[in-house]
Amino acid sequence: MIVNAYAAPSATEPLVPTTIERREVGPHDVLIEIRYAGVCHSDIHTVRGDWGKVPYPLTVGHEIVGVVAEVGSEVTRHAVGDRVGVGCMVNSCRECVNCRAGQQQYCLQGNTQTYASTDRDGTVTQGGYSTHIVVVEDFVLRVPEAIPYEAAAPLLCAGITTYSPLRHWQAGPGTRVAVVGLGGLGHLAVKIAHAMGAEVTVLSQSLKKQEDGLRLGADHYFATSDPATFEQLASSFDLIVNTVSSASLDINGLLSLLALDGTLVNVGAPAEPLPIQVFALFGNRRSFAGSGIGSIDETQEMLDFCAEHGIAAEVEVIGVDQVNDAYERVLASDVRYRFVIDIDTLA
Ligand code: NAP
Ligand code: ZN
Ligand code: ZN
Repeated sequence: MIVNAYAAPSATEPLVPTTIERREVGPHDVLIEIRYAGVCHSDIHTVRGDWGKVPYPLTVGHEIVGVVAEVGSEVTRHAVGDRVGVGCMVNSCRECVNCRAGQQQYCLQGNTQTYASTDRDGTVTQGGYSTHIVVVEDFVLRVPEAIPYEAAAPLLCAGITTYSPLRHWQAGPGTRVAVVGLGGLGHLAVKIAHAMGAEVTVLSQSLKKQEDGLRLGADHYFATSDPATFEQLASSFDLIVNTVSSASLDINGLLSLLALDGTLVNVGAPAEPLPIQVFALFGNRRSFAGSGIGSIDETQEMLDFCAEHGIAAEVEVIGVDQVNDAYERVLASDVRYRFVIDIDTLA
């Protein structure tokens, strides 16, 4: 099946309209007619080559929502017409210890990513900036009716990437959580941590988005550009979720804000290494951690949690021809708070 898509021809050229091939629907596959695709900062890191070699031309996009158009003969989890989503991975080995523990995102063979991975059939996976995608049923999520399609799309990456560490490090009543960077991931981290009952503080570069941050559920809002912030908030958080996409931030200053046994979990994925000073970890017996997306079961749990708590992304819907401008605005931290492509504009 040949379908319309938008692809990056190289690291330096804009994305352009193209067509890509989707495999035939196998017995365990679901064909999804895509409605919306979120623009994640990881799409930009990937196409610009920040993280290494890229199989160009490449169609990115791993915040996908749509409607089931066809199912394979053995499919039991989804039916034609269902509202569904696909996130950052479309398969895994299913045999390793992590897969067997239901943690496919940490598959020891490497999970099959939604784009730029080698698929089971040897082809390169192509992402959601396209009209259709074929995905094996176990990696397709149910999108609750309560969440509009466009606002649900960013939950498939930004939502689960923040929900998973908040759950793992037990954000809840009595915990003090700081979210660094109020972008796509950050704004959902604020909403989710607030819904879990934590006391939430935003640490943004400036106070420009303060009103939004408080409206989204933050209790406090500080600018990291103000040195007084680091004095005032020293040793005061149990958990810091760092969503910043760049390594040019004061990571040791952020570590100094952790209370006894506190953890800074890094979900931001900058191209450059972070210059961690181990002495920043000695005080208060601090931990520095990382976290990658979340499992399929946890992604479903997150979608259901968001529906129950009235949480969804704040989005700016764009036509596919605006995606290159959207990339520049994301890079300039000028997004409130996720661009989502209306895939009808690709049809
Ligand atoms: P985004 O929308 O661009 O948000 C990042 C935010 O970081 C910006 O809005 C900005 O917030 C802040 N920021 C940017 N540059 C900064 C700098 N130099 N110093 C301090 N703060 C800065 O990006 P996103 O889509 O949320 O993604 C964030 C990062 O997470 C990316 O690196 C992405 O690849 C990564 N990611 C990781 C996973 C995972 O599994 N671990 C999954 C998805 C994404 P303020 O304006 O508020 O300062
Ligand atoms: Zn992403
Ligand atoms: Zn595995």
